[in-house]
Amino acid sequence: MKITFLGTGTSQGVPVIACKCNTCQSNDPNDKRLRSSVLIENDGDVFVIDAGPDFRQQMLKYNVERLDAILLTHEHKDHTGGLDDVRAYNYLQKKPMPIYCEKRTANALKLEYHYVFAKERYPGIPEFDIRLIDDKSPFKIGNTTITPIRVMHHKLPVLGFRIKNFAYITDANYISEKELKKLDGVEVMVLNALRKEKHISHFTLNEAIEVIQKINPRQGILTHISHLMGKHNEVSKLLPANIIFSFDGLEINL
Ligand SMILES: [Zn+2]
Ligand SMILES: [Zn+2]
Ligand SMILES: [Zn+2]
Repeated sequence: MKITFLGTGTSQGVPVIACKCNTCQSNDPNDKRLRSSVLIENDGDVFVIDAGPDFRQQMLKYNVERLDAILLTHEHKDHTGGLDDVRAYNYLQKKPMPIYCEKRTANALKLEYHYVFAKERYPGIPEFDIRLIDDKSPFKIGNTTITPIRVMHHKLPVLGFRIKNFAYITDANYISEKELKKLDGVEVMVLNALRKEKHISHFTLNEAIEVIQKINPRQGILTHISHLMGKHNEVSKLLPANIIFSFDGLEINL
């Protein structure tokens, strides 16, 4: 399995438009973060987790010539804002794009992309094939089995995903003991860490480190990072030996 980090930034991305802070002004490519998403290639199956406003740019940058499915963690715009651009794959693959999400997220897509669901379809609009999932049952994309993990994003229930010994959780600030059990034996664990200061709906740096150390994976990887975290190279020095900050373009082979 190969995992490519297509984006590792929080909802505004890094740099933030017109921000003059040190991180946003940095020339280090690791301080340029598109909105969070990963590309997963496993056993012939190719899919992404989330498709935010940078989806088109990410598909171009990483030359993704085929896409079998999109998994959505939740309906916030930084995770769904790029879905209009599945049109390219609709033309190429001659079918609607399978989108795996839970019911509440699907209902939000029906509002945000009302034209996709219209009875009288305007020619050339994207085609979605919504496939409902929940936190109870694993599901399959081709040969790949995916186990959803329920996490909380303040009051909003969000899905994380485990695939073999890889887990990807973003936009969380609470994971119950019961759901943590689903992460037993995970080798590589991705978790969101927004910034150092407390936030209402995201783990802070210390909170994320604490959760990762509880799971004790070989490699912890932090994502969904704000410019307020600081420069990649400087804050990286604060991390325990088994944890790194993700950066756009990071590849993991498992
Ligand atoms: Zn987000
Ligand atoms: Zn900034
Ligand atoms: Zn969110």
